[in-house]
Amino acid sequence: MNSKEIKAHKKAKQAILDVAEEWQRTFDSISDIVFIQDTNFIITRANKAMFTTLKKKANKVIGRKCYEVLHNRDKPCPNCALKKAVLDKKKHIIEVEDPNIGIPLSIIVSPLFDKEGEFIGSVHIARDISEGKKIDEIKDEFVSTVSHELRTPLSIIKESISLLLDELPGKINDGQRKILTMGRNNVDRLARIVNDLLDISKIESGKIGIKKTIVNISSLIKDICENWILEFDKENRELTLHLPKAPVDIHADYDRISEVINNLISNALKFTPEKGHVDIYVKDVKDGAEVTITDTGVGILKEDIPKLFTKFQQFGRRVGPGAKGTGLGLAIVKQLIELHGGNIRVESNIKKGTSFIFTIPKK
Ligand code: ADP
Repeated sequence: MNSKEIKAHKKAKQAILDVAEEWQRTFDSISDIVFIQDTNFIITRANKAMFTTLKKKANKVIGRKCYEVLHNRDKPCPNCALKKAVLDKKKHIIEVEDPNIGIPLSIIVSPLFDKEGEFIGSVHIARDISEGKKIDEIKDEFVSTVSHELRTPLSIIKESISLLLDELPGKINDGQRKILTMGRNNVDRLARIVNDLLDISKIESGKIGIKKTIVNISSLIKDICENWILEFDKENRELTLHLPKAPVDIHADYDRISEVINNLISNALKFTPEKGHVDIYVKDVKDGAEVTITDTGVGILKEDIPKLFTKFQQFGRRVGPGAKGTGLGLAIVKQLIELHGGNIRVESNIKKGTSFIFTIPKK
């Protein structure tokens, strides 16, 4: 190489170093944690935020397995997002709370491909969500306290209106009866909202107690249905039970499973027009009981089905008193079933009807 060539070579080398340095500086100035790992879970690159958050030097992070560095484990976590990305080569978002890291993180895992399109690992962007979590906790605490405090005055208002409607303090005329009845219906609705809010906040904060005993699901459903018969007759709809000959025993909290079934029957009745049918089937399936609540009602649009078990979702609500719910019922139903180790799914055809099918394990 002549001196001119040596100079050009040096200049090119410096340019490469400058680009690498600029890239590292940019990488380090990202306040979120960013790291790259290969298909063997080895962290190949990480930015400064990663070392600061973990309080570890670069040589204790780079070249090591992510589950050792992040989780102090000797094998990947059961819900490892990289494992999922390896399987489907898609983006995954997970929330991780590990005392080893110290702060809750929301991690976006994106697959990484080489020039030939070969999957070679994943890029992770992790964001500190402790602030959001704290706000959520404060919000839940607030909802729970307010709901609790509202219960007593609400029951006193309801009691007072009932006394007036029963004409204990004196006679009332038709106009007054109409207004008082409207007031009582709305107090009932408010009480339902408050109870649902309390239920969901207890479930979400893990404060709900599930007291499991051996429950004969057929007799439980029979008892519940007896309480519904009058209402169905009044509304001109039919309720039919289809029970297996042999009893099916499940391991469950009697009151909570009653709440689930009452909620599903109440919805089936609410969304089924006059002369419609609601059928309840109980089946003894492997390891559990399968309950199906089917109606010949309005049905649910395909695009609404994924949102069904989310809080405050209501679709195609009918007008009129009693028909309005809180949009919390199915969220509560799903969580209660899952707390029992069971699951729930829905099948629906518009204008034909809807089936909610859930299973509860025997043990
Ligand atoms: P709500 O208290 O409003 O009934 P839910 O969570 O129980 O709340 O139900 C959410 C929404 O799902 C309802 O508003 C309704 O649109 C729909 N839905 C629930 N059950 C049925 C059903 N059996 N048939 C048709 N739509 C239903």
